Amino acid sequence: MSKNLIIAIDGPSGAGKSTLSRLLSGRLNYINIDTGAMYRTVALAVDRAGIDLADRHALDQLCQSLDIHFKRDGETETVWLGNEDVSTLIRTPEMSLLTSRVSACHEVRAAMLILQRQMGEDGGVVLEGRDIGSVVFPNAQVKFYLNASAQARGTRRYDELRQNGVEVDLNQTIAEVIQRDVADSSRENAPLIQADDAIVVDSTSMSIDQVLKFMLAKIEGHL
Ligand code: C5P
Repeated sequence: MSKNLIIAIDGPSGAGKSTLSRLLSGRLNYINIDTGAMYRTVALAVDRAGIDLADRHALDQLCQSLDIHFKRDGETETVWLGNEDVSTLIRTPEMSLLTSRVSACHEVRAAMLILQRQMGEDGGVVLEGRDIGSVVFPNAQVKFYLNASAQARGTRRYDELRQNGVEVDLNQTIAEVIQRDVADSSRENAPLIQADDAIVVDSTSMSIDQVLKFMLAKIEGHL
Protein backbone atom coordinates (compact mmCIF):
# COMPACT_ATOMS: atom_id res chain seq x y z
CA MET A 1 0.00 0.00 0.00
CA SER A 2 1.47 3.39 -0.86
CA LYS A 3 2.05 5.99 1.83
CA ASN A 4 2.38 9.73 1.81
CA LEU A 5 6.05 9.91 2.66
CA ILE A 6 8.19 12.95 3.30
CA ILE A 7 11.31 12.58 1.16
CA ALA A 8 14.25 14.92 1.80
CA ILE A 9 17.00 15.56 -0.73
CA ASP A 10 19.88 17.68 0.51
CA GLY A 11 23.27 18.47 -0.95
CA PRO A 12 25.43 21.20 -2.49
CA SER A 13 24.48 23.14 -5.63
CA GLY A 14 24.72 21.34 -8.94
CA ALA A 15 24.55 17.83 -7.47
CA GLY A 16 21.34 17.13 -9.41
CA LYS A 17 18.82 17.70 -6.62
CA SER A 18 16.32 19.68 -8.71
CA THR A 19 16.29 17.24 -11.60
CA LEU A 20 16.00 14.22 -9.34
CA SER A 21 13.34 15.68 -7.09
CA ARG A 22 11.27 16.64 -10.13
CA LEU A 23 11.61 13.15 -11.58
CA LEU A 24 10.91 11.42 -8.28
CA SER A 25 7.86 13.55 -7.49
CA GLY A 26 6.54 12.88 -11.01
CA ARG A 27 6.96 9.11 -10.61
CA LEU A 28 5.39 9.02 -7.16
CA ASN A 29 2.74 11.62 -7.96
CA TYR A 30 4.07 13.70 -5.07
CA ILE A 31 4.35 17.47 -4.63
CA ASN A 32 7.80 18.85 -5.40
CA ILE A 33 9.15 21.65 -3.21
CA ASP A 34 12.31 23.39 -4.40
CA THR A 35 13.35 25.24 -1.23
CA GLY A 36 16.33 26.83 -3.02
CA ALA A 37 13.84 28.59 -5.31
CA MET A 38 12.10 29.94 -2.19
CA TYR A 39 15.36 31.41 -0.83
CA ARG A 40 16.18 32.79 -4.27
CA THR A 41 12.78 34.51 -4.37
CA VAL A 42 13.43 36.11 -0.99
CA ALA A 43 16.80 37.33 -2.33
CA LEU A 44 15.09 38.88 -5.36
CA ALA A 45 12.63 40.68 -3.08
CA VAL A 46 15.48 41.89 -0.82
CA ASP A 47 17.35 43.19 -3.85
CA ARG A 48 14.31 44.99 -5.23
CA ALA A 49 13.48 46.56 -1.88
CA GLY A 50 17.11 47.65 -1.47
CA ILE A 51 17.24 46.18 2.04
CA ASP A 52 20.55 46.18 3.88
CA LEU A 53 21.05 42.68 5.33
CA ALA A 54 22.23 44.24 8.59
CA ASP A 55 18.77 45.80 9.00
CA ARG A 56 17.16 42.80 10.70
CA HIS A 57 13.87 44.55 11.35
CA ALA A 58 13.35 45.47 7.69
CA LEU A 59 14.32 41.95 6.68
CA ASP A 60 11.84 40.44 9.10
CA GLN A 61 9.05 42.75 7.91
CA LEU A 62 9.76 41.86 4.31
CA CYS A 63 9.74 38.10 5.02
CA GLN A 64 6.39 38.37 6.79
CA SER A 65 4.85 40.13 3.80
CA LEU A 66 6.04 37.81 1.02
CA ASP A 67 3.66 35.54 -0.87
CA ILE A 68 5.85 32.78 -2.34
CA HIS A 69 4.20 29.81 -4.01
CA PHE A 70 4.67 27.22 -6.73
CA LYS A 71 2.49 26.42 -9.74
CA ARG A 72 2.59 23.31 -11.84
CA ASP A 73 1.35 23.13 -15.42
CA GLY A 74 1.93 19.59 -16.71
CA GLU A 75 5.70 19.06 -16.49
CA THR A 76 6.47 22.73 -15.98
CA GLU A 77 6.91 24.05 -12.48
CA THR A 78 7.17 27.77 -11.78
CA VAL A 79 7.80 29.85 -8.68
CA TRP A 80 5.74 32.96 -8.01
CA LEU A 81 6.20 36.08 -5.95
CA GLY A 82 2.65 37.37 -5.56
CA ASN A 83 1.25 37.40 -9.08
CA GLU A 84 4.63 37.48 -10.86
CA ASP A 85 6.36 34.41 -12.27
CA VAL A 86 9.98 34.89 -11.11
CA SER A 87 11.30 31.46 -12.19
CA THR A 88 13.86 32.86 -14.66
CA LEU A 89 14.78 36.05 -12.79
CA ILE A 90 15.99 34.11 -9.73
CA ARG A 91 18.47 31.93 -11.66
CA THR A 92 21.18 34.45 -12.58
CA PRO A 93 24.72 34.00 -11.12
CA GLU A 94 24.31 37.32 -9.22
CA MET A 95 21.11 36.10 -7.62
CA SER A 96 22.78 32.78 -6.67
CA LEU A 97 25.49 34.59 -4.72
CA LEU A 98 23.06 37.03 -3.11
CA THR A 99 20.83 34.10 -2.11
CA SER A 100 23.73 32.50 -0.28
CA ARG A 101 24.08 35.66 1.84
CA VAL A 102 20.34 36.20 2.32
CA SER A 103 19.74 32.56 3.31
CA ALA A 104 22.29 32.85 6.13
CA CYS A 105 20.04 35.38 7.93
CA HIS A 106 18.06 34.04 10.85
CA GLU A 107 14.89 36.04 10.01
CA VAL A 108 14.79 34.58 6.51
CA ARG A 109 15.35 30.99 7.67
CA ALA A 110 12.70 31.29 10.39
CA ALA A 111 10.10 32.48 7.87
CA MET A 112 10.98 29.82 5.29
CA LEU A 113 10.99 27.09 7.93
CA ILE A 114 7.36 27.81 8.81
CA LEU A 115 6.33 27.95 5.16
CA GLN A 116 8.18 24.75 4.21
CA ARG A 117 6.71 22.82 7.14
CA GLN A 118 3.21 23.98 6.17
CA MET A 119 3.78 22.92 2.58
CA GLY A 120 5.13 19.48 3.51
CA GLU A 121 3.46 18.39 6.73
CA ASP A 122 0.77 16.24 5.10
CA GLY A 123 3.39 14.13 3.32
CA GLY A 124 3.34 13.04 -0.30
CA VAL A 125 6.19 15.47 -0.89
CA VAL A 126 9.75 15.60 -2.11
CA LEU A 127 11.61 18.58 -0.64
CA GLU A 128 15.04 19.53 -1.89
CA GLY A 129 17.49 21.91 -0.27
CA ARG A 130 20.35 22.08 2.22
CA ASP A 131 18.72 21.51 5.63
CA ILE A 132 15.60 19.46 4.93
CA GLY A 133 16.74 16.24 6.61
CA SER A 134 18.60 18.05 9.40
CA VAL A 135 16.25 20.93 10.35
CA VAL A 136 13.00 21.24 8.38
CA PHE A 137 11.88 17.59 8.55
CA PRO A 138 14.30 15.65 10.77
CA ASN A 139 11.64 12.92 10.91
CA ALA A 140 11.40 12.52 7.13
CA GLN A 141 11.03 8.81 6.34
CA VAL A 142 13.58 8.90 3.52
CA LYS A 143 16.60 11.21 3.41
CA PHE A 144 19.12 11.50 0.61
CA TYR A 145 22.35 13.45 0.53
CA LEU A 146 23.22 14.00 -3.10
CA ASN A 147 26.79 14.99 -3.88
CA ALA A 148 29.24 15.20 -6.81
CA SER A 149 32.70 16.67 -7.36
CA ALA A 150 32.91 20.48 -7.60
CA GLN A 151 34.19 20.14 -11.18
CA ALA A 152 31.15 18.06 -12.22
CA ARG A 153 28.71 20.34 -10.40
CA GLY A 154 30.21 23.51 -11.84
CA THR A 155 30.14 22.08 -15.35
CA ARG A 156 26.48 21.09 -14.97
CA ARG A 157 25.58 24.57 -13.72
CA TYR A 158 27.52 26.11 -16.64
CA ASP A 159 25.64 23.94 -19.20
CA GLU A 160 22.31 24.80 -17.60
CA LEU A 161 23.00 28.56 -17.62
CA ARG A 162 24.24 28.47 -21.25
CA GLN A 163 21.13 26.55 -22.28
CA ASN A 164 19.07 29.33 -20.75
CA GLY A 165 21.03 31.88 -22.77
CA VAL A 166 23.10 33.22 -19.84
CA GLU A 167 26.70 34.00 -20.95
CA VAL A 168 29.10 32.64 -18.34
CA ASP A 169 32.66 31.37 -18.07
CA LEU A 170 33.24 27.73 -17.07
CA ASN A 171 36.08 28.33 -14.60
CA GLN A 172 34.22 31.19 -13.00
CA THR A 173 31.08 29.07 -12.65
CA ILE A 174 33.09 26.30 -10.94
CA ALA A 175 34.69 28.90 -8.65
CA GLU A 176 31.25 30.30 -7.76
CA VAL A 177 29.92 26.83 -6.96
CA ILE A 178 32.85 26.31 -4.56
CA GLN A 179 32.32 29.77 -3.06
CA ARG A 180 28.66 28.94 -2.39
CA ASP A 181 29.59 25.54 -0.90
CA VAL A 182 31.87 27.27 1.57
CA ALA A 183 29.26 29.90 2.48
CA ASP A 184 26.43 27.33 2.79
CA SER A 185 28.50 24.88 4.85
CA SER A 186 30.12 27.34 7.23
CA ARG A 187 27.14 29.53 8.16
CA GLU A 188 25.80 29.47 11.70
CA ASN A 189 22.11 28.99 10.85
CA ALA A 190 21.16 25.59 9.45
CA PRO A 191 24.37 24.94 7.51
CA LEU A 192 24.59 22.39 4.74
CA ILE A 193 25.30 19.12 6.54
CA GLN A 194 24.72 15.50 5.89
CA ALA A 195 22.09 14.11 8.30
CA ASP A 196 23.35 11.01 10.16
CA ASP A 197 20.60 8.86 8.73
CA ALA A 198 20.82 10.17 5.14
CA ILE A 199 21.54 7.85 2.24
CA VAL A 200 24.57 9.30 0.46
CA VAL A 201 24.63 9.29 -3.34
CA ASP A 202 27.68 10.51 -5.28
CA SER A 203 26.44 11.37 -8.76
CA THR A 204 29.84 12.38 -10.22
CA SER A 205 30.00 9.48 -12.64
CA MET A 206 26.39 8.33 -12.61
CA SER A 207 23.73 9.17 -15.20
CA ILE A 208 20.48 10.76 -14.06
CA ASP A 209 18.72 7.52 -14.86
CA GLN A 210 21.09 5.51 -12.68
CA VAL A 211 20.63 7.88 -9.75
CA LEU A 212 16.84 7.84 -10.21
CA LYS A 213 16.74 4.02 -10.18
CA PHE A 214 18.91 3.89 -7.07
CA MET A 215 16.71 6.39 -5.23
CA LEU A 216 13.46 4.70 -6.27
CA ALA A 217 14.77 1.37 -5.01
CA LYS A 218 15.54 2.92 -1.62
CA ILE A 219 12.11 4.61 -1.45
CA GLU A 220 10.28 1.42 -2.42
CA GLY A 221 11.14 -0.18 0.91
CA HIS A 222 9.14 2.55 2.69
CA LEU A 223 6.00 2.45 0.53
O1 C5P B 1 19.43 24.91 -4.54
P1 C5P B 1 19.81 26.28 -5.03
O2 C5P B 1 21.17 26.34 -5.63
O3 C5P B 1 18.77 26.88 -5.93
O4 C5P B 1 19.83 27.17 -3.70
C1 C5P B 1 20.24 28.52 -3.74
C2 C5P B 1 20.79 28.93 -2.39
O5 C5P B 1 19.73 28.91 -1.43
C3 C5P B 1 21.87 28.01 -1.80
O6 C5P B 1 23.17 28.34 -2.23
C4 C5P B 1 21.70 28.25 -0.31
O7 C5P B 1 22.41 29.39 0.10
C5 C5P B 1 20.22 28.55 -0.15
N1 C5P B 1 19.45 27.42 0.37
C6 C5P B 1 19.45 27.23 1.75
N2 C5P B 1 18.69 26.25 2.30
C7 C5P B 1 17.93 25.45 1.53
C8 C5P B 1 17.93 25.62 0.12
C9 C5P B 1 18.72 26.61 -0.43
O8 C5P B 1 20.14 27.94 2.46
N3 C5P B 1 17.17 24.52 2.10
